[in-house]
Amino acid sequence: MKLIALGSPGVGKGTYAKEIIQKYNILHLSTGDMFRENMKNNTELGIKAKEFINQGKLVPDEVTIGMVKERLSREDTKGGYYLDGFPRTIPQAEALAEFADIDRVINFKADHEVIIQRLSGRRICKQCGAIFHTINIIPKVEGVCDSCGGELYHRDDDQPESIKKRLQVYEEETKPLINFYKEKGILKEVQVNEDFGKNKELMLNRIFTAIDNN
Ligand code: ADP
Ligand code: ZN
Repeated sequence: MKLIALGSPGVGKGTYAKEIIQKYNILHLSTGDMFRENMKNNTELGIKAKEFINQGKLVPDEVTIGMVKERLSREDTKGGYYLDGFPRTIPQAEALAEFADIDRVINFKADHEVIIQRLSGRRICKQCGAIFHTINIIPKVEGVCDSCGGELYHRDDDQPESIKKRLQVYEEETKPLINFYKEKGILKEVQVNEDFGKNKELMLNRIFTAIDNN
């Protein structure tokens, strides 16, 4: 199964990933995680991406497409993947169509207030990238990851100014992808306004139904 997760920053694409990849036995490929890993290791790619990311801007298409193309050319992607955060622009979607056969695109939808609340309270594990939230998905021990014991941090681009910019970029550059994939007949929409910490079963059911039904 080759899936694309579409939807606004903060809608929960990364949060639902764990259960989705388990059920379909596929890889979680997040371009945001790839960039953060490169920034942590100070690679050439990481240094290039950092200035854009911290301002809430998109990393240029040629850099992002190159990174994803290389990743999808590896053997371990043959069994399928959950592509989270890519494509985010029409040129990225057009490029992807040339090197990948996507089975389904899930468009996650939540209200604006919900999105803002999710982004501003989000905490990420430094070690494994797991996602928590100060109110919605509280870790068992404050500041510590439930899965690996790593330290949780507040992303630099989850500050009010970057959040505003990212949502604006989403409206302008990423939203057109909804029609792009609707026209291809592979888009499914899923409402995710509920709190995932409290309504996990309900929300996962909805997501799995959207993935499984033609
Ligand atoms: P979120 O979905 O919460 O915005 P991500 O972790 O997916 O966070 O992305 C973080 C940042 O990484 C984005 O704001 C952008 O700067 C960069 N990025 C991620 N994916 C892409 C992409 N497909 N194209 C360009 N930039 C990207
Ligand atoms: Zn962790």
